[in-house]
Amino acid sequence: MDYQKLAQLLFPDLQLTPEDIEKRYPPRNLPEGAKVTRIAPSPTGFMHLGNLFSAIISERLAHQSNGVFFLRIEDTDLKRAVEGGVETIINVFHRFGLNFDEGATIDGDKGDYGPYRQRQRAEIYHVFAKELVLRGMAYPCFCTEEELAAMRETQQEKKLNFGYYGEWAKCRNLTLEEIESSLKAGKPYVLRFRSPGNPEHRIKHRDLVKGDMELPENDQDIVLLKSDGIPTYHFAHIIDDHFMGTTHVVRGEEWLATLNIHLQLFLTMGWKAPKYIHTAQLMKMDGESKRKLSKRKDPELALDFYHAEGYPVESVLEYLMTLLNSNFEEWRMANPTAPMNDFQFTTNKMSNSGSLFDVDKLQDVSKNTISMMTADQVYDHVITWAKQYDEQLYRLLTEDEAKAKAIFAIGRGGSKPRKDFAIWKEVKDYLAFFYDELFVPAGADSYPENVSKEDCLAVLNGYLEGYDPADDNSQWFDKVRALGESLGYAGKPKDYKKNPEQYKGHVGDVSGVIRLAVTGRTNSPDMYCVMEVLGRKTMEERIHQAMGILKG
Ligand code: GLU
Repeated sequence: MDYQKLAQLLFPDLQLTPEDIEKRYPPRNLPEGAKVTRIAPSPTGFMHLGNLFSAIISERLAHQSNGVFFLRIEDTDLKRAVEGGVETIINVFHRFGLNFDEGATIDGDKGDYGPYRQRQRAEIYHVFAKELVLRGMAYPCFCTEEELAAMRETQQEKKLNFGYYGEWAKCRNLTLEEIESSLKAGKPYVLRFRSPGNPEHRIKHRDLVKGDMELPENDQDIVLLKSDGIPTYHFAHIIDDHFMGTTHVVRGEEWLATLNIHLQLFLTMGWKAPKYIHTAQLMKMDGESKRKLSKRKDPELALDFYHAEGYPVESVLEYLMTLLNSNFEEWRMANPTAPMNDFQFTTNKMSNSGSLFDVDKLQDVSKNTISMMTADQVYDHVITWAKQYDEQLYRLLTEDEAKAKAIFAIGRGGSKPRKDFAIWKEVKDYLAFFYDELFVPAGADSYPENVSKEDCLAVLNGYLEGYDPADDNSQWFDKVRALGESLGYAGKPKDYKKNPEQYKGHVGDVSGVIRLAVTGRTNSPDMYCVMEVLGRKTMEERIHQAMGILKG
């Protein structure tokens, strides 16, 4: 076969050579040990936890080693690409604070190793496709869908491996004349790789997470260029990772199945393959058994879910890091307030079997993360969220910023900060009673059973009479205690427990009555602080309203 002629037939207008491309992408000038990583999503419009998982690992590996972290858009599969998909990718990663040094941006590209969108790199792929044709390692295949389906059927009947390989690879043996006449007839074709592999042979591979493994050599004549000239993922990404200088590829373990193809292509091209980190699938418990997170069943798989629910980005990252590195939690205990990036992430501490994703655990982590924030930080987060998702909450909080911040300051800052909410969506319910517009008074039957209606009224009356805004927290509480004692309630719960028959109840019941009247709830943050934020007027109005409800 005259490969020169074949190459000329298939790529008549292509002038560029591999050397031209090599010149365009000189090796990167980076310090010893610097890692170059990328994330390479397809613009499908759906961003999921797996994307974020890989991105965190890639970002950490690059930035911990003074390397480069870049974004490449893999848009070769037009069927999967959606309008606005690239913007979604960029915005989501930006929101999660993952900053790319290079790559696709909203209004173009940043960096010297672009273009960073595969569809803009068509010519580069063609140069190397042509190179493989010249070497006799690639050939056009004119098989139709029907022919391929029939072939598959026969393979199934004969219980053979599926695919285009060995004797099944019909177009491998076409003559130049046959090819020429098919081309002349305008028959569509794909360009296939002429695989030199033999599946009886094994190749050794060391994955940084999965460890050492042996893979069968690939013998499939995989498609390099589709009939529209667009490359497949297999072909495009090895060319990109080579020229963009990727040192570590982090991707989901579903790619292990075709890793032998990728390693074979690197070898054929004479390029050094990057190191691989194939991450385990995210699993969840479903009843007694574990299963993969599913797009259809599990809203928590989608990254949009976290935004809409109002999970702070910090919480999600913090939780994912506990899944990613087994020693992270221990580090966090020893360094409760340190920025997460002070933690030394390592692939050695990654689990090589599926990580269990647990929304309840994420909620706990998030409560904790939020409890460490200042009132100002909480305020900023909540209004940012509410602006998009809850107009009323946004208005209430911004109309009186000082009041909102005073609410968020309650129980914050000490050694045991309050942990009232895990997501911003829960904030409205938490603070509703501070706002007349949202306040729901307690019904008469919500009051403690052991406190008679008369006593409830006496507590509320007595409380109003004794109230002095100048009292500090302990003076305030002493008065409530004294009020209860005068009505036959123990001043201390433990006295009541010792001699329950001597009392009607204890001071907790008495303050509970006040709490119910003022907040409408049996649970609230420290009442003294609540009163301070509400102010005397509102407090009095609420107590009068409660007395009205109690009187019926
Ligand atoms: N485009 C591939 C995907 O979206 C990326 C795989 C890779 O990182 O190489 O799954």
